[in-house]
Amino acid sequence: MSQEIVRQAEQAVHDLRAKMQGRVTARGDGGYENARKVWNCAVDHHPVAIAFCESAEDVQAAVRTARALNMPVSVRGRGHDATGRSVRPDALVIDLSRMDDIQIDDPIATVAGGATAAKVIAAASARNLMAVTGWNGVPGMTGLTTVGGYGPLIASHGLALDNLTGAELVLADGQRLTVDQNHPDLLWALQGGGGNFGVVTSMKIRLHPARQVLGGTILFSWDEAETVLTRCAKAIGSASNNLSVVTGVMSLPDGSPALFLAPAWTGEIPDGEIAMEVLKRCGNPMHVEIASMSYQDLIQSFDARVANEKHYALETRWIPALNPEAISALIAGGARRTSPFSTIILQHFRGLPTQIPPDGTAFGLRREHVLVEIIACWDPTDADNGSVHKRWARDLSQTLAPMSLPGGYPNLLGPHARDQIAHAYGDNIRRLQAVKRRFDPDSFFSATPLPV
Ligand SMILES: Cc1cc2nc3c(=O)[nH]c(=O)nc-3n(C[C@H](O)[C@H](O)[C@H](O)COP(=O)(O)OP(=O)(O)OC[C@H]3O[C@@H](n4cnc5c(N)ncnc54)[C@H](O)[C@@H]3O)c2cc1C
Repeated sequence: MSQEIVRQAEQAVHDLRAKMQGRVTARGDGGYENARKVWNCAVDHHPVAIAFCESAEDVQAAVRTARALNMPVSVRGRGHDATGRSVRPDALVIDLSRMDDIQIDDPIATVAGGATAAKVIAAASARNLMAVTGWNGVPGMTGLTTVGGYGPLIASHGLALDNLTGAELVLADGQRLTVDQNHPDLLWALQGGGGNFGVVTSMKIRLHPARQVLGGTILFSWDEAETVLTRCAKAIGSASNNLSVVTGVMSLPDGSPALFLAPAWTGEIPDGEIAMEVLKRCGNPMHVEIASMSYQDLIQSFDARVANEKHYALETRWIPALNPEAISALIAGGARRTSPFSTIILQHFRGLPTQIPPDGTAFGLRREHVLVEIIACWDPTDADNGSVHKRWARDLSQTLAPMSLPGGYPNLLGPHARDQIAHAYGDNIRRLQAVKRRFDPDSFFSATPLPV
């Protein structure tokens, strides 16, 4: 660390401790090692300090202090970005995890910038409402919602960002701004462009009446994977918008792969039972666990499967469909996994979000597609820093490249994926860059990557 950074850091910590209600943890402090950790244990970034903000005023103090000292910042919601973008090396981290309050004025929830999806789901559920989230409750709701939000309600209620109706921001000059229809460009940009315009201290999202969901898991042997994926693609393609399905590879107790389908049905239960039968008949299931449950229970069942305290490296592709060529590439990739913790997840983008015009939000791809997540995961004790597992993920991504659409889901694109980043926002990029120039001309904020 240069002398200049050391000086800046000391000054920033001194100033912030005087101005902030929340705690500031700096290099050398007892809690620093823990405070810099994020979900992906492979991320080993050393920010100069972490400011645990308690309020929008604390966020303003952090932004103004960093600005005055010409110091870089990053914003951390819940730290689930796999590349560790929320803990920028040698920067001041503006941590929002203490700001997780949720207020509901049916049908709108005001969600503080550091709330988890799980907390939003629980608050909505207590009011007999449902929030559009991802398949897990663990990520930050703001990081998820301002970039995308593929989840169990996608076909019926859109991406999480399609339900964003407003936000409160702290801008790069430290001013607070209420974003609603009075700032249509900025609201549009926040629906896909992520935290690139300011610190989102809270968001307004539309909730929906709660329903019992028919969901769970259907497990097939790997020998049947090709047949099941082929039939499943057909079944999902012709299903009603009440059905969303996540498909993927999971490990059996001996580490060998199996194929899972995890459906979520939000329509009438008897109709859902028919839809589940169709999915089961895609092969000869080894195990079926489907039940009617609350949305909260469905999400908690997925949370229980998230592997924590591991090292991760992600690759992603948008493929137009599960056609025979893609299926055989995915199956070959699944069979070549180098770690039993690694997985491939397929999320189908269909139904309601495809009816929103491509320029209706900043999100870059409104046609039907399958989001492929290639997740290399290994134990921290692995000797070679995960290079073999990372190579597995990169190789599969490269194999899929010629059959993929340009771009990719920005929440999962690492900085190395320059070609994909360049196309991630499609034709929306020019308007997005214009909003960036207007609200953050010096690129003080950097979140999910925007093409330059
Ligand atoms: C286990 C797991 C499951 C997931 N499941 C899904 C899923 O089902 N569907 C899906 O679409 N995605 C999913 N994701 C991806 C996830 O939505 C993104 O990684 C999201 O960005 C995480 O938000 P976070 O606040 O936890 O992350 P962080 O790492 O804290 O932040 C991510 C980015 O957003 C910025 N940011 C966060 N909060 C704010 C804020 N309040 N203001 C300004 N900028 C902010 C950060 O600076 C950073 O650049 C999953 C990720 C994990 C690890």
